[in-house]
Amino acid sequence: MTLSVPAYAAFSPTEPLRPTVVERREPGPKDVVIDIVWAGICHSDIHTVRDHWGPASFPVVPGHEIAGIVTQVGSEVEKFKVGDHAGVGCMVGSCGECPNCKAGDEQYCSGTGMIGTYNAVGKDGLPTYGGYSDLIVVDESFALKVPDNLPLDQVAPLLCAGITTYSPLRHWNAGPGTRVAVVGLGGLGHMAVKLADAMGAEVTVLSQSLRKKEDGLRLGADHYFATSDKNTFKELKSSFDLILNTVSEVTEIGAFLNLLDRDGTLVQLGLPEHPFPFSPAPLVFGRRRWAGSLIGGIAETQEMLDFCGEKGIGSDVERIESGQINEAYERVLKSDVRYRFVIDGNTFKA
Ligand code: NAP
Ligand code: ZN
Repeated sequence: MTLSVPAYAAFSPTEPLRPTVVERREPGPKDVVIDIVWAGICHSDIHTVRDHWGPASFPVVPGHEIAGIVTQVGSEVEKFKVGDHAGVGCMVGSCGECPNCKAGDEQYCSGTGMIGTYNAVGKDGLPTYGGYSDLIVVDESFALKVPDNLPLDQVAPLLCAGITTYSPLRHWNAGPGTRVAVVGLGGLGHMAVKLADAMGAEVTVLSQSLRKKEDGLRLGADHYFATSDKNTFKELKSSFDLILNTVSEVTEIGAFLNLLDRDGTLVQLGLPEHPFPFSPAPLVFGRRRWAGSLIGGIAETQEMLDFCGEKGIGSDVERIESGQINEAYERVLKSDVRYRFVIDGNTFKA
């Protein structure tokens, strides 16, 4: 027996998403059922359904920024009770036994690999379907506890955009005295600004234009520069310890590497469709590093949510209904979102 759940899916890389019904497993003893209240739209959803990262397994129900309310708990569930606010991010499983899983870095699982919240196959043998849907059934160890003081619409984007920026900020020790630049003020970028500011770092936004400068300063940036202005790259040469590159397209990476001080690190978060043309010179002259980082582990995601609860940090969201998903995708592609679309989970009902 399975549960038939209303959802929105992509059926090919070229067609708009449309309503459908998907089958999820009946909840087992360790599962929780979460009524999805809000689901964020991440640029990764668009990369996936448009086959930017290789052929997807259609139909794809995207959505890995899920916030909702627990409606059912299995007999062995310990962390949740009915009525709790809960979240699900980019993973719903991993081997649990490899050194990376044991270290709490399930996203780098070297056993089976992490099981994605969508476009993967779950341990139950069924395709995984994401948050553009009425409800989700998930093993409690991949569900997160959501602080009660944060509204669920503002919480949803924390499950990907939040943890993807929190994890490298912590890993590379952002804090008082560190100079952090955030490239691209979109979903990830606006969370990077809020979180780096809350950690006490000096924050600079590097955006394509000054169009969103007022927002950037309000979100917590100390400085704001346009990358379309060539003077920006002269003025800011060698002036950052850490740069988070959240841009979803190929960027002139050497120009950004030159903005790092000696021993600085540029962390690549954006995963564009096409490879980067790359010269190693900016790394060599300055002992700089170009690193990457993938979301964050479950324990760190919980730490991030608790940090956001303490500091009162949520995402800046634009609320939409399921019928507006395709329109929202076009706006994300035009960098016209302030700063995350969240879909009303009640609009997936059959
Ligand atoms: P988003 O909301 O679309 O933000 C991307 C931002 O990049 C835009 O707002 C824009 O900022 C800038 N940008 C877009 N096109 C550009 C271009 N042609 N040249 C220069 N700048 C451009 O996307 P997102 O959801 O934050 O995701 C960003 C990227 O991170 C995607 O590739 C996504 O797949 C990836 N991602 C990675 C992880 C991970 O674990 N590493 C997790 C989630 C997402 P401005 O208008 O301010 O310039
Ligand atoms: Zn994402």
